[in-house]
Amino acid sequence: MCDIAERITRQPVVWRVAAASDTLALTWPMSNVIQPAATARSKCRGCGERIAAGELRFGESLPNPFAEGETTHWFHLDCGAFKRPEPFLETLEALKEPIENAPFLAAEARLGLAHRRLPRVNGAERSASGQAACRACKDRIGKGAWRISLVFYEDGRFAPSGFIHLPCAKGYLETIELVPRLKRFSPGLSEADLLEIQSELAK
Ligand SMILES: [Zn+2]
Ligand SMILES: [Zn+2]
Repeated sequence: MCDIAERITRQPVVWRVAAASDTLALTWPMSNVIQPAATARSKCRGCGERIAAGELRFGESLPNPFAEGETTHWFHLDCGAFKRPEPFLETLEALKEPIENAPFLAAEARLGLAHRRLPRVNGAERSASGQAACRACKDRIGKGAWRISLVFYEDGRFAPSGFIHLPCAKGYLETIELVPRLKRFSPGLSEADLLEIQSELAK
């Protein structure tokens, strides 16, 4: 009891509506962390790459879907700021010791909070087939044309959710400040690619 009482006073309890049963389910407050990776075994949920031992990482605590208790999803710090801006920013701001690139990380997380679709951005690439339609304007994205790939986050998972044209980003994402996240999620882009992308975004 003592432990529960302490947790209640520390953080507000989060209530979640269980849509299917239309009843209220209580979710205990979760403890998210920013801490160095003890080993190089964890994989980032944001970009899919390994997190190096000793590197600072963001851990988001979620209810374990397969068992009682919680499970932790790990992210590189920038991947956390880009893709999980709300829990990331809360955790960053609660740190007692400031970390090196906190201003950049906080700014990127705030951008994602201000523009609700921005955390869905998962990189940029040239359309291979020309088959996909743009989620914003519904027109086809021509073969070889640049496109932004999107993911949708639900229940702790990122699922592919289509593409948009670069010039459609301004309306759909409400911002064209995308380059840091495009570089992170599409590390193969060259400087020339990024310049081309920036000029198309501004169209
Ligand atoms: Zn990552
Ligand atoms: Zn479009």
